[in-house]
Amino acid sequence: MSRFEINILGCGAAKPTLKHLPTSQVVNVRDKLFMVDCGENAQVSFCRARLNMNRLGHIFISHLHGDHCFGLFGLLSTMGLSGHTGEVVIHAHPDAEKLFRPLLDYFCRETPFEIRFNAISPSSAEAIYTDRSVTVRTIPLKHRVPTCGFLFEEAEGDRHLRGDMLDFYHVPTYCRTAIKQGEDYVAPDGTVVRNELLTLPPTPAVRYAYCSDTMYSERILPYIEGVDVLYHEATYGDDAEAMSRTTFHSTARQAARLARMASVGKLIIGHYSSRYRDENVLLAQAQEEFAHTQLAYEGMKVVLKP
Ligand SMILES: [Zn+2]
Ligand SMILES: [Zn+2]
Repeated sequence: MSRFEINILGCGAAKPTLKHLPTSQVVNVRDKLFMVDCGENAQVSFCRARLNMNRLGHIFISHLHGDHCFGLFGLLSTMGLSGHTGEVVIHAHPDAEKLFRPLLDYFCRETPFEIRFNAISPSSAEAIYTDRSVTVRTIPLKHRVPTCGFLFEEAEGDRHLRGDMLDFYHVPTYCRTAIKQGEDYVAPDGTVVRNELLTLPPTPAVRYAYCSDTMYSERILPYIEGVDVLYHEATYGDDAEAMSRTTFHSTARQAARLARMASVGKLIIGHYSSRYRDENVLLAQAQEEFAHTQLAYEGMKVVLKP
């Protein structure tokens, strides 16, 4: 498994088609799994992607439209059957607990793990989760109901040891963990060997921005500036730009324009309206604005760090 990768489980819009499922993704950071949105059928796609349910501890819901959260009950119920232990935290708008708790109490009474809700405020940009490997922040979006995207920022890893220099200075093995974390080496005679002589800088940390349902908004630019990968919804093409405004969605061209303005490494588009039989129309329009654009598809794996 890669150190940082995205698995696309569903990338269609609200109305499912024979080709696409409602929105859901799994971000894998150093073997910890984070689900982003949980549209219907997410649990089946999860298994199809050969992901391990026991590694899933956090689910982030961008907004309370059914195509982003109707898969929760099925998934949580199956996690119970799969022997998941510990805790699952659902990060979502405060209404989520009011809506889902009674249903979970009814259907998932015997779930052998704790289900906890973390109420987030979609209108503010804040860190809502952090551990040694990653921090997750909200990105306020403009949609018909309170909605946010999520920015995954990998923590900087350890420095890389230089074997030749460790040998040269006779650094004992038990000192190496501290040196990887940036400490100098103090030899038995009191000589200080600076860390920069013994190590090379860590591999650069990566960042992934997920922008769920939203109308075109340049206000997100500061949050997505320079990310390695941006996922941005592209529900419509140029033909339906007016409709994108009335439904608070984006066109593929608009998503790509934002990607270009923010100088991101790569853009992945999804949340396709069922009116498009062939999304290559959307891809062509996006690539006119930003060449490094790809279409999302169910089963797609995007590796940010091998
Ligand atoms: Zn949606
Ligand atoms: Zn929506």
